[in-house]
Amino acid sequence: MYHSTDEAKTTRMDVVRDRARICTRCGLWESRTNAVVGSGSLDSEIVLVGEAPGRAEDESGLPFVGRAGKLLDDALGKAGLSRGDVFIMNVVKCRPPNNRRPKKVEMVSCEPYLVEQLEIIEPSVIALMGNSPLSYFLQKYGLGRAAIGSVHGKAYHVDTSWGGVTLFPLYHPAAAIYNRKLTETLEKDFERLAGLEGP
Ligand code: URA
Repeated sequence: MYHSTDEAKTTRMDVVRDRARICTRCGLWESRTNAVVGSGSLDSEIVLVGEAPGRAEDESGLPFVGRAGKLLDDALGKAGLSRGDVFIMNVVKCRPPNNRRPKKVEMVSCEPYLVEQLEIIEPSVIALMGNSPLSYFLQKYGLGRAAIGSVHGKAYHVDTSWGGVTLFPLYHPAAAIYNRKLTETLEKDFERLAGLEGP
């Protein structure tokens, strides 16, 4: 699920996972099979943040294993990256019914897990896949509002508790399921992501 050369990081992430598994901070716990905390390298400089688990993720406990996951793997691969080079997580850890977008109250309830995860990994780049992570992070850092269609591929530099970080909005990979024309845009943005250094 995740790996690190630093045992303390693994232990801290295990604690996040164990807490999320029994979490009842919002109503989503009632219909969840598994809380999905994330997967990949805890030593990575790049964290990818999606919206929330879908059905396949709820069943497996792993992020992006359904159709959107296949598109994500393709875009990572074309950019010369693999899942083991990054850490993949979601703003919300439990599946919203019928794959609806997470509500603000659910994002706020889940925030302590997201914050703790980022503080464990201390990435220099956070890729925001889609409008939910985009609106959460822009608001958190006082950057106003924007839609993914107008800011994808644009870097924002912010100061965090562990240092300077580049926020990098991307289309959500599922957007390319419904609009094939976005595949090329998505792949170009992932190539830029792979070439990014922290601020
Ligand atoms: N969509 C997301 O935003 N996250 C997942 O884990 C799967 C699909």
